[in-house]
Amino acid sequence: MRSRFAPSPTGPLHLGHAYSALLASDMAHAAGGSFLLRIDDLDQSRSRPEWEVQLKEDLHWLGLDWPEPCRRESEHLADYEAALDRLWQMGLLYPCTCTRRDIREALSAPQEGTPRTGPDGLVYPGTCRPPAPPSGPRPRDGTLRLDMARACVALSAPLSFTETGAGPEGETGPITTGIEKMIDSIGDVVLARREMGAAYHLAVVVDDAAQEITHVIRGRDLFEATRIHVLLQRLLALPTPVYHHHRLIRDDQGKRLAKRDDARAIALYRGDGKSPQDIRVLVGL
Ligand code: GLU
Repeated sequence: MRSRFAPSPTGPLHLGHAYSALLASDMAHAAGGSFLLRIDDLDQSRSRPEWEVQLKEDLHWLGLDWPEPCRRESEHLADYEAALDRLWQMGLLYPCTCTRRDIREALSAPQEGTPRTGPDGLVYPGTCRPPAPPSGPRPRDGTLRLDMARACVALSAPLSFTETGAGPEGETGPITTGIEKMIDSIGDVVLARREMGAAYHLAVVVDDAAQEITHVIRGRDLFEATRIHVLLQRLLALPTPVYHHHRLIRDDQGKRLAKRDDARAIALYRGDGKSPQDIRVLVGL
């Protein structure tokens, strides 16, 4: 078993991250496997080397260890480019110039009905989707979307994965997603972004395959996005790991913690003299 923790170095490590990392490490070690760290620093406009240093220090303090050097996304851009090339050659990507506002406006047209929301927000209305796959070389900059309907036709295996934790509605065990759900409730997701190259959904499947991750242990908020990840694994002929989506650590008001919840930064608990064992108790481990 190989698990991983994949933080973005865009802020302090907080209790929610600590829970996710400790659980991924505990589960791997209980099974005699290994735990890996990956630095999700694709978004160079928000990633900072200081945060990476701090988060590694906090993780070590918590008692976690991983093989070094760890994978840093910014050092593997060619891998993501190759995956995008492959999807482009399969005729499954198209350039999109819509702004968020364009999308909201298109969806407010009366014939559109009630807008749907998927894992990435509003389901794209298809404004830029071409009637036939674009020809010529893949554009190197700008947004590229996946043509979901076309992608589903290209599939030769069902979109299934094994969930050993639970989704937001308690979904567990074998999870299969129908093609209609992929098209109607998820739609044409963004796989490449201006100034960023690959988007999260593409990078995460390439990374998990490159690191030979067998078990992805992460927060329940990513359960729905897993359907996109499994689809990309099928299209790119990559293995599908087992997924374990865990409960989210919430603040006193019941809201899930975000990076900006600096009040729950591990560094502050450390400064207050708390021990790693205190952190385990706080997150219910
Ligand atoms: N960097 C992503 C995050 O922090 C990783 C998500 C994942 O584990 O797939 O949300």
